Amino acid sequence: MNIIGRSLLAVTNRSSVRKVFAESTAGRRLSLRFVAGETLDDAVAAARTINDMGARVSLDHLGEHVTDGTAAIEARNDYLECLTRIDAEGLDAEISVKLTQLGLGFDDELALESLGALAERAARGGTTLTIDMEESRHVEKIVTAFEDVQTRYGNVGIAVQSYLYRTPADLDRIVPRGGLVRLCKGAYAEPASVAHQEKAAVDAAFDALTRRLMATPGITPAIATHDDARIELTKKLAAGRDEPWEFQMLYGIRRNLQRSLVADGYPLRLYVPYGTAWYPYLTRRMAERPANLAFFLRAAVGR
Ligand SMILES: Cc1cc2nc3c(=O)[nH]c(=O)nc-3n(C[C@H](O)[C@H](O)[C@H](O)COP(=O)(O)OP(=O)(O)OC[C@H]3O[C@@H](n4cnc5c(N)ncnc54)[C@H](O)[C@@H]3O)c2cc1C
Repeated sequence: MNIIGRSLLAVTNRSSVRKVFAESTAGRRLSLRFVAGETLDDAVAAARTINDMGARVSLDHLGEHVTDGTAAIEARNDYLECLTRIDAEGLDAEISVKLTQLGLGFDDELALESLGALAERAARGGTTLTIDMEESRHVEKIVTAFEDVQTRYGNVGIAVQSYLYRTPADLDRIVPRGGLVRLCKGAYAEPASVAHQEKAAVDAAFDALTRRLMATPGITPAIATHDDARIELTKKLAAGRDEPWEFQMLYGIRRNLQRSLVADGYPLRLYVPYGTAWYPYLTRRMAERPANLAFFLRAAVGR
């Protein structure tokens, strides 16, 4: 993340800014560019449209860093309801989950128990669950939770971040368990002690990890990026891969590219966030591309 992105995250994380932005009509309007809507019905409608276009879906019920057991259990129940709908509606969709939303950080046992319940429900509906990767201080616990739950249910995937120095070693633990491995660059402001700071280094690490994952049997590499150079490399490597893999992109970002990949026959899954807790998600999307702020300013002046 560049200096503008880091500064932007520092400002948007301030509670005064959060309050004004998250409660404004302009903020809500901007969120609809990157978020399917506030309700499960909105998410189901978006998933159906995406399936009709020929892509799969990963539904993210927005929320993270909950700080009490009631909210963590509510998050689990919302995801159970989401899995029931995926099943009932016959959608080609899975769920993406943040462990801090299920209680990681203040009740790790509850988070793990909820993750198991979600994997079990997903397995009954014949679908999967991917664990999002979060801030570096949570990575060890997230990888350990993946090892545990994937061993028990076999339908669990995990995201890894190319900016972290530790990711190649984490993959030594992840790959033997099988499942989907989502490779992304990483969306948080991390210090130089744990993460590459320069875009070129993050990209080089991404390419090395793409080569490794696309050459590994027994897993499903999910190459999650909107970056043309990364996408071109993946296309080349895909020509030599017999086993399943996919591209992944975020809802609302580079929609023309999404359509053209599907038209060219590439497997694509869209990550579709929904829910009322869209603020932190939206600020990360702005930090990645401060030009998105222009959308906000335009929305703010009502254009
Ligand atoms: C499916 C999916 C799941 C993800 N899961 C996680 C996760 O679990 N943990 C995590 O830390 N991060 C996650 N991310 C975010 C990821 O780490 C990056 O922050 C994000 O994808 C931007 O990186 P990029 O690879 O698209 O490349 P960049 O170099 O940032 O962008 C390449 C190009 O893509 C376009 N673009 C990128 N971002 C935006 C944007 N916000 N708005 C408009 N255009 C944009 C621009 O044209 C840009 O030039 C996920 C990303 C995807 C696609």
